[in-house]
Amino acid sequence: MRMTNMYLKTLREVPAEAEIPSHIWLLRAGMIRKLVSGVYGFMPLGRRVLQKIEAIVRQEMDAKGGQEILMSAIQPAELWQESGRWYAYGPEMWRLRDRNDRDFCLGPTHEEIFTDIVRSEVDSYRQLPLNLYQIQTKYRDEKRPRFGLMRSREFIMKDAYSFDRDWEGLDKSYNEMYDAYEKVFERCGLTFRAVEADTGAIGGSDSHEFCALSEYGESEIAYCEQCSMAATTEKAACVDDTPDSAEMLPLELVHTPGTKTIADVAAFLGIDHKQTIKALLFEVFQQEYRYVAVFIRGDRELNMTKLINALNIPEHAIEFADEAAMGAETGAVGGFTGPVGLRNCKIVVDSELTGAKNLCAGACKEDYHMLNVNYGRDYTGDIVTDLKLTKEGYPCPQCQGHIKITRGIEVGQVFKLGTKYSEAMHAYYKDENMQEKVIVMGCYGIGISRTLAAIVEQHHDKDGIIWPLAVAPYHAIITVVNAADAVQMQLAEKIYDELQKEGVEVLLDDRDERPGVKFKDADLIGIPIRITVGKKAADGIVEYKMRGDEKSTDKTASEATAVVLELVRPYI
Ligand code: ATP
Ligand code: MG
Repeated sequence: MRMTNMYLKTLREVPAEAEIPSHIWLLRAGMIRKLVSGVYGFMPLGRRVLQKIEAIVRQEMDAKGGQEILMSAIQPAELWQESGRWYAYGPEMWRLRDRNDRDFCLGPTHEEIFTDIVRSEVDSYRQLPLNLYQIQTKYRDEKRPRFGLMRSREFIMKDAYSFDRDWEGLDKSYNEMYDAYEKVFERCGLTFRAVEADTGAIGGSDSHEFCALSEYGESEIAYCEQCSMAATTEKAACVDDTPDSAEMLPLELVHTPGTKTIADVAAFLGIDHKQTIKALLFEVFQQEYRYVAVFIRGDRELNMTKLINALNIPEHAIEFADEAAMGAETGAVGGFTGPVGLRNCKIVVDSELTGAKNLCAGACKEDYHMLNVNYGRDYTGDIVTDLKLTKEGYPCPQCQGHIKITRGIEVGQVFKLGTKYSEAMHAYYKDENMQEKVIVMGCYGIGISRTLAAIVEQHHDKDGIIWPLAVAPYHAIITVVNAADAVQMQLAEKIYDELQKEGVEVLLDDRDERPGVKFKDADLIGIPIRITVGKKAADGIVEYKMRGDEKSTDKTASEATAVVLELVRPYI
C-alpha cells in the first residue's frame, strides 16, 4: 500500500475523551473513530488488525472442530422469554419493537438462538457432539461505556456453543476450548492468566475468564503466591476466621451517640473492628420480599456478586435501600441497624459470624448499640453463606499461602452451561436406545475488539503502538526520506515489489512530507519493521529497524529484504 493513496488521518493531540493508553493510541493512530459514546468504527488500519485477530481465532476454533455460522443480530423476545432471560438480562439489553408491536432485541449474546437452531435440527446422538461458532457484532447498553473498545456498547465477539450428549462430553469440549483460548491469546502476543470466574447473567456451573494482565483492566484477580489458586475477586472464596470459643455473655444495650459507622463505634467503645457487625441494607425488585439486610463482620467488605448469587436474583434487581422507607417497614435505623429486632426482611448473614462470639451490633434504636450479640442465641439468618470480598494478604482458600491481587482485562470467558438452556428450551436428542436425553451445553466468548485494545495496552511506548507481527496491520514500512529523489524512490520501489511478491504486507511511505513526520507516523501506527531509504540509496544501503529498537542498522537492500522475509514468513 502506498501511503499517498492511503486513507489515514493520525492525530497529534491526545483526544479529550481518551483516558487509557489503548484508547489514546488507537484514536491517535487513526485506527478507530467514535460515533457516539461506546460506539466505534474501524478505519482501514484498525480493520486490518481486527481481521488478523479474527483469522487467528478462526484457525484455532476450526482446529478443534468448530464450524462457523452466522446468525442474525436481531433476536425475537419469545426465545428469551423461554429461557427466562427477557427479564433477567435487564437494562443492558437493547430492546426494540417492530411495526406490528412484536418485541425484539439486538443480541448481547446468543445462547437462546443457538439452542433454538440445534433443538430443531438435532435429534439423534449421532449428530453430537457439535461445536458451532460465529464472529459477530454484539450489543450491550452498558451502564458505563468507557475506555474505547474495552467497554463499548457495540462490539465484536466470537461466540461458540458446544452441544454434547453428557457431562463427560461437555468436560472434553470445555477443555478443548480452554486449550484453544490459550493458543489464541498467546498468538496475539498477550500476557494473560486464566482464572476461575463467576458465571453472571450467562449462568451454568464452572467458568474461567482469560485476563490480559493490565493495570487498567476491570477484572480484579486474586491469586495465591504458593499454589495454583487464581480467581476473579468476584468469585474467590474467603476463609472464615476460626470460631471463637469464648463463653456467650449477656446481651447489653449501650448508649453510643452519633456513632453511625464501624470506625466510629469501634473507636467510641475501644474495640477492634473484628468485634463488630456491619449492616448493609438493600431493596430488591421481585415479588417474594422487598428488603434485605446483610450482616458481615465490621472489618470485612461485602462481595456483591456473592450476595446476588445467594439471593438468586439478577444484578439489576437490587439497590441500596432508602433507609427511612426500609426503617418504617423493618425497624432498621440508619447507622444503628443490627440483626436483633429486625422484622419483615430477608436476613443474609456471612458464615463467619456464626462462629464469632460477643460482637457489637446496632440496636435498631437511634444512638444505641448492643454488646455480646451471638448468632443462634440472639439472631439467625434466612441465608448463611460466604459473602466476603477477598483482599491482599487474606489466607488462600486452598493452601497455607496468602492472596495477592492484580488486575486484568477480560478478553475471553468460557462457561459450562450444562442443561440450563437445553432444559428450559427443550433441546433433546435420542440416545442409542431411542431414549430422550437433554443436550449438555457449553459456551465460549472472545471479545475480538476488546482483545485488539488489550494488545495495545500491553504493546506500546511513548511514541505509539508496537504491534506484534502476528496481528500488525502491515508487517513492514518502507520510509522514503525524500520522495522527490529518484534514486531513493527507485530503490524503495524495488524493495517494495520484492517483499510484496513474497507475500509480505508492506507500506511504502512515498508522501511528500518531512522525514520527521513520516518517522512519527510509522512509530504511531506501530508497524513492526521499518526500512528507511535515504541518502545511502545511491550505494544500495538502507537503514533497518524494528519498532521497539533504539537504533537502526545499515544493510544492503537485499540483506534487509532477506531479514524481513525470515521474520515475517511464519505469519504469512
Ligand atoms: P464484562 O464482565 O467485562 O462486562 P461479560 O463477562 O459480561 O464482560 P461475556 O458475556 O463473558 O462478557 O462476553 C464474552 C466476551 O465479550 C468478554 O470476555 C469480553 O471480552 C467481551 N465483552 C463483553 N462485554 C464487552 C463490552 N461491553 N465491550 C467490549 N467487549 C466486551
Ligand atoms: Mg465474561
